[in-house]
Amino acid sequence: MKGRPPPLQPPPPPQLWQLAREFLSVFRYGRRAMSLVWQTRPTLAVALGLLTLFSGVLPAGVAWVGARLVDAVVSASASHGSATPALHWVAWEGALIVLMALCTRSLAFTNALLRQQLGHRVNVLILEKALQLDLEHFEDSEFYDRLIRARREASTRPLSLVLRSFGLLQNVVSLISFAVLLLQYSVWAVLLLLLAGLPGFIAETKFSGDAFRLFRWRSAEKRMQDYLESVLARDDHAKEVKLFGLGPRLLGRYKDIFVRLYDEDRRLALRRDSWGFALGLLATATLYAAYAWVVLAAVRGQISVGQMTMYLLLFRQGQVAVTASLGAVSGLYEDNLYLSTLYDYLETPLRPQTGHATTGSRPGDGIRFEQVSFSYPGATEPALEAVMLHLKPGGSLALVGANGSGKTTLIKLLTRLYEPTGGRVLLDGTDLADWDPQRLRERIAVIFQDYARYQMPVGENIGAGDEPYFDDAQRWQEAAAKGRAEEFIGQLPDGYHTQLGKWFLNGRELSGGQWQKIALSRAFMRTRADILVLDEPTAAMDAQAEAEVFEHFRKLAQGRMTILISHRFSTVRMADQIAVLERGRLIELGSHEALMSTGGQYAQLFALQARGYR
Ligand code: ADP
Repeated sequence: MKGRPPPLQPPPPPQLWQLAREFLSVFRYGRRAMSLVWQTRPTLAVALGLLTLFSGVLPAGVAWVGARLVDAVVSASASHGSATPALHWVAWEGALIVLMALCTRSLAFTNALLRQQLGHRVNVLILEKALQLDLEHFEDSEFYDRLIRARREASTRPLSLVLRSFGLLQNVVSLISFAVLLLQYSVWAVLLLLLAGLPGFIAETKFSGDAFRLFRWRSAEKRMQDYLESVLARDDHAKEVKLFGLGPRLLGRYKDIFVRLYDEDRRLALRRDSWGFALGLLATATLYAAYAWVVLAAVRGQISVGQMTMYLLLFRQGQVAVTASLGAVSGLYEDNLYLSTLYDYLETPLRPQTGHATTGSRPGDGIRFEQVSFSYPGATEPALEAVMLHLKPGGSLALVGANGSGKTTLIKLLTRLYEPTGGRVLLDGTDLADWDPQRLRERIAVIFQDYARYQMPVGENIGAGDEPYFDDAQRWQEAAAKGRAEEFIGQLPDGYHTQLGKWFLNGRELSGGQWQKIALSRAFMRTRADILVLDEPTAAMDAQAEAEVFEHFRKLAQGRMTILISHRFSTVRMADQIAVLERGRLIELGSHEALMSTGGQYAQLFALQARGYR
């Protein structure tokens, strides 16, 4: 990060005309969330819809029955008549209340089920998409952040959006049914009910919109906070954070960000709540004016006492429904924000996979780099520039160069993790882009310097190298023998079934060198591959182990192509060809002897390292 971030400036306030558009934007992702729910569990979705409608209409029903009850009581007591009609209405009201309770419970039950189902479904969607993404996506910090955020709230947000939309619908249905009953009294009463709620509604929409924009615009800040959290609280950083004493400083930064964000939040909350209170007061005053009106009408005998009770109840419940709708609107904004991140992520365009070739146009030609250039997205300098190479079957190539000279990038292009920005990489005469991706992957076995350490049993850690043989214990052993991992695996408590890593019960942590042997064995699983790529695979091994591995490697390399990146010249010199890279350019190419005799960069580096060993 470059210095301190600039102080927060709130985004400009929106124009009034934007408010209406903004309010509608609350429903932007509603349809998609609904269809997500529908696809997840149609039955639950239907149940949710019906229960919402019932729950919306029932309060009006209760108010209506209440009115009948009061009128029955009044007329029975006035005429000393029978109590049966009144008791009749009591029974009806009781039944409706039971029905309402049933609806509420069923809604809670449906929600609980849907939450689990939907959370799982969204997670699967996110992970399925992750499987199709290119490496460059994972190396793009903003994109990666989107993925993390999408995953973190996957289990709650889509359902929350749907529930709040349904909640809003339920309240709107209630309000409509209240309005229908109120119409019998006066159109003005209906208008009054709506007008009382309107200012609050507009204010809530405006402030929720502000919060939404604020949230969006400070996402970089939030990201830094998340990052600091992960540095402070994750196992892979714990060693350094402790030993370098970084904890208090990083925690300080974390707190600073909080203070700045909190300040903004407090101001917004203050404005929102004071306006909310003032407008709420206005609504209450309007409603009580309506109350007075209804009471006067009842006193004058224009309406019955029962009707008066009903209208008062309708006003009061109408206000509750309006308040609940306000809450739903502000929540909907937040849910929309999440869903926009989710859909941004799910709709990330993929690189088209067009190749179908399973054999090359010139079989046996091997690998060719023709004027290959490459720049990372957003980089100002190319990582590779006009590289020309040719490696025939049976040949071996060592890549040499300072850190950052482009060695790993070259491997990424060969394995099609990235596509060249200029020139072509050919395998057996056919451009890699035209190869069937599956077939291409079968032909290449590669270990990167940052190979994965799976928190799984030893055997699976090796089997991962060749997916169809993931569980093949016989293959594991053969590969482990080639990778020189056999011996220490034999000493582990459960042999090939020993859990590795510290995350799970009884997990064993291995040393760096032992992990590297596991990774090497993983590459040896790919017996069908004829291109072997080792990107500094033996750096953490002792010299003896490295010599053995390479001896073995050379034997196995018969008829295959081997590409090796190493800083140990004792192994580099075994390669048929040595390519020296400097800042993305190929500056020397030839055998050890040839390069030594020209006395260039390679000869100098070799002499330097040889002196170190003397
Ligand atoms: P080497 O393997 O020789 O150490 P690399 O091929 O990893 O070097 O890197 C070559 C250059 O590309 C370096 O300048 C490095 O900063 C840059 N680079 C490497 N990986 C990325 C990446 N994922 N995004 C952007 N730039 C990168």
